[in-house]
Amino acid sequence: MLRVFKFGGAVLKDARGMENMASIVAGYSQQPLVVVVSAIGKTTNALENLLRLARRKQPEMLRKAFLDLKTTHSLLIRGLNLQNEDLLLHQVDKQFENLWTVLHKLPKNEFFAYDRVISFGELFSACIATFWLNEKDLPVKLVNAGQIIVTDENFTQANVNWPYTVKAVETRVQPCLEAGKIVLTQGFIASGNKGHVTTLGREGSDFSAAILGFALHADEVCIWKDVPGLMNSNPRVFKEAVKLDHVSYNEAVELAFYGASVIHPKTVQPLRNSNIPLKVCAFYSPETSPTLIDNHAENDAAIPKIIFKENQTLLSISSRDLAFMEEGKLKTVFNTLSKHKLHVNLMQNSAVSFSVCFDENPEKLQPVLDSLKDEFVLKYNNGLQLLTIRHDNGKLLQKFTRGKQILLKQQNRTTLQVLMRKSGK
Ligand code: ASP
Ligand code: MG
Repeated sequence: MLRVFKFGGAVLKDARGMENMASIVAGYSQQPLVVVVSAIGKTTNALENLLRLARRKQPEMLRKAFLDLKTTHSLLIRGLNLQNEDLLLHQVDKQFENLWTVLHKLPKNEFFAYDRVISFGELFSACIATFWLNEKDLPVKLVNAGQIIVTDENFTQANVNWPYTVKAVETRVQPCLEAGKIVLTQGFIASGNKGHVTTLGREGSDFSAAILGFALHADEVCIWKDVPGLMNSNPRVFKEAVKLDHVSYNEAVELAFYGASVIHPKTVQPLRNSNIPLKVCAFYSPETSPTLIDNHAENDAAIPKIIFKENQTLLSISSRDLAFMEEGKLKTVFNTLSKHKLHVNLMQNSAVSFSVCFDENPEKLQPVLDSLKDEFVLKYNNGLQLLTIRHDNGKLLQKFTRGKQILLKQQNRTTLQVLMRKSGK
């Protein structure tokens, strides 16, 4: 039985998490195993912040934020009580030195620079996790993701080159597994066709696990989470949230697409193609049964799913001369959104106006406004909430929209979406 495990940043953020990861890995180490790790804790956000500070030329704040991130990592390492602590601290220090150099020599292309900087989170975590598991006497071998996951050069959202990736996995991972090693690699990062580091999109480590699962014909891919499994809603916003025991690949893709943050939307596709089960497992109670995602759809409509996406922007675009928003104009709009990599969560078209909703991102919004403003009248609102309900039981919409102002509503047979303003805004 060949498995691919993915451990996310939320579960690897402290010594307790690392300890728990080691015991889970040890429990499955008798059979072929690949482990994918993402950056620890909130490292990726911290790296985005470093990049921002470096671009804005704020050296003091940059130095402070850099040292904070470094301290987070050294504290984690010290908390592990390793025999060879100094050696690992030294290795991670070297990586931090490299990061410092990159921050001071940022490549001109902004997306290229982003991937260079942001990829460090997984380089740190994979180095620490490998060292840690080796000290636990587990035969773990680090294989760099850059050597096995090959993409195009669409920085920040790179697309996988499947034939090259499959070949690289066959030549670099398979032999290690055959030699009885556990292979550990970085999630989220990859290598473009000219050898530059690329990333697969935020939260992309799940996708990395799925890519490896596909390339290795794995028997299952397991994502270890700090929640009991895939839930029908976020327990923090809906107290009656329940765990889903079983959903189909399709349902899981829809949920991920609408913003259920448990799995990355692209994760399911490679697994569905080869019918590899995906499990969402409870990291802190590994004995409980996971959520199983496979090609059986019989349970999909049984439980309604409620997903909130916060911090949405609604941009309304109408033509200056009140002419129809016909296809030519829409083409201009979409080309602009795509050029600035602004991903649309919801859209609606009327005769003279076109509305799009996306995650708030001032840095991407501004250039979009700049390039559309001559041709169109633009209005936008921030701070909105997008609610998606799948398989509504007729009672939920009212419950969740009470006291809120609805700006946009859309419905099809399975899915109901409303974009709303929270009360008091
Ligand atoms: N570390 C990356 C992120 O936070 C990828 C991941 O965690 O899946 O987006
Ligand atoms: Mg993460």
